[in-house]
This record gives sequence, C-alpha cells and structure tokens, in this order.
Amino acid sequence: MQMNCPCGELITGAGEDELVDAARAHLTAAHPGRAYTRDQILFFADE
Ligand SMILES: [Zn+2]
Repeated sequence: MQMNCPCGELITGAGEDELVDAARAHLTAAHPGRAYTRDQILFFADE
C-alpha cells in the first residue's frame, strides 16, 4: 500500500499496519505537531 503525503513524500508499507507506522514516523519527523488517526491515514492510502 502507499500514500502520498500532502508534502509530496511517498510513503509505502506492505500492509495497513506498516503503512500506518510509516506514515506516523514520517509525520513525527517531517510534520511535528500533526497527528492523524489510523482512519485518516488509510483514507489517503491507495492499495
Ligand atoms: Zn509529509
């Protein structure tokens, strides 16, 4: 699965759990102060 962060970063994961973890790691590193729920991350994701 993959998702495009609004900043242009492509985030990938082998499954929902990995994608959510990768997205949270990216948000923490690149967008401190922003937090998305699992549902919000998956809403932006493509299989
Ligand atoms: Zn980003």
